[in-house]
Amino acid sequence: MTDQIYWNPVLETLPREKIRQLQLKKFQKIFKWTYERSKFHRKIYDDAGVTPEDIRSFEDIQQVPSVEKSMMRDIQRKDPFPYGDALCVPLEEVAVFRQTSGTTGQPVYQPDTWQDWEWWAECWSYILGAQGYRPKDRVFIPFGYNIFVAFWAGHYAAEKIGCEVIPGGVLDTKARILKIQELQATAMMGTPTYILGMAETAQSKMEINPSELTIEKITCAGECGASIPSTKKRLENAWGAKVYDHAGATEIGAWSFECQDQPGGLHVNDALFLVEIADVETGNIIEAPGRRGKMIITALDRQAQPCVRFDSKDVIEWADEPCSCGRTSRLIKGGVVGRADDITKVKGVLLAPSAIEEVVRGVDGLGDEYEVIVDRVGHADQIKLKVEVLPEAQDQCQLVESELADQLRLKTNLRYDIEICGCETLPRYEVKAKRFKDLRKKSKED
Ligand SMILES: [Zn+2]
Repeated sequence: MTDQIYWNPVLETLPREKIRQLQLKKFQKIFKWTYERSKFHRKIYDDAGVTPEDIRSFEDIQQVPSVEKSMMRDIQRKDPFPYGDALCVPLEEVAVFRQTSGTTGQPVYQPDTWQDWEWWAECWSYILGAQGYRPKDRVFIPFGYNIFVAFWAGHYAAEKIGCEVIPGGVLDTKARILKIQELQATAMMGTPTYILGMAETAQSKMEINPSELTIEKITCAGECGASIPSTKKRLENAWGAKVYDHAGATEIGAWSFECQDQPGGLHVNDALFLVEIADVETGNIIEAPGRRGKMIITALDRQAQPCVRFDSKDVIEWADEPCSCGRTSRLIKGGVVGRADDITKVKGVLLAPSAIEEVVRGVDGLGDEYEVIVDRVGHADQIKLKVEVLPEAQDQCQLVESELADQLRLKTNLRYDIEICGCETLPRYEVKAKRFKDLRKKSKED
């Protein structure tokens, strides 16, 4: 792709009605495939009394029960080793092993055939195409190539598009920055946390201003930061680059992306995925914009261990405007705003951890890192928020703290015990940050 705007000009501009027809056709096919081959899924469908013949219209899809990650942990104790009875292909066709990061419990193994792996690269080609990656780009990937899927598929898609790819593998952060400088890389991919951390290392330990390097665009994934306006602004200012969000998951695929128009949300890749939003309490499907619910998603073409109406727990809502880029796929507003598991009641008020991030990163004088600890003292909930004040704002500590307290009250309706920590004393993360700790859940489990 050299001049064209879309990776797939036909599918990305297909009229909505045609997209729905395509999704129905593909859903029927993947549901039948799964029903006939996966013992694990077959039992769930038989218990619900749903067979492939029952799915005749788009609305019928809702009859198919959803599957949660917690239901899948046991499958790996069954045959064939090590994947278990959701495997839909002969074991010898599995070409790729990955596993989930296990941030919410025991990891789940994910097998893919070679065809699935090519599909992964295809999904990512839509993402990179929409974010302006072209054959002239030199893409640096500062990622510890390991058992997690993350940027592996981004790597292959960048090659598929025709970019030149530099695997930043086992290099440490300083060596990665020097490599970007040496080779004049124009694009990179990483978690928002790590990309911010890289900028901090360049400035404070190497006297390099990252915005003077040659990076023009950055694709962020793994956390929702790049869709949080204040975090996106920090990333873009630090690197002097456009920063784009992407949401995907090991057990689902690379299902969404922000485009170059940065519409304040993510495009769902409708040609390859069916995204539904379910009301958290009633389970009813939400079609209208502006109402949050959890995502139920189907990967329409993934075969080895299918993802059919997977209850991802990601909290999303539809945006109402079509995007100015001309893609006809639906947009979700503000990206993934949190996980249904993480949105919790504190002092009777609903709190999404991403709301705290939006506030902290929006206050001048504060560092990028923070930590939130929710606990119960006696009968009352307490929230401790640890932040770092930047060296240049040390003499205005009180001012920064009161600005933070005001903004938090305004945006989250809650009071916090704010603790100012020394510079660079809070933990730094390379993959997924764990900044939100709810100790009340732990004491319940004990
Ligand atoms: Zn767009």
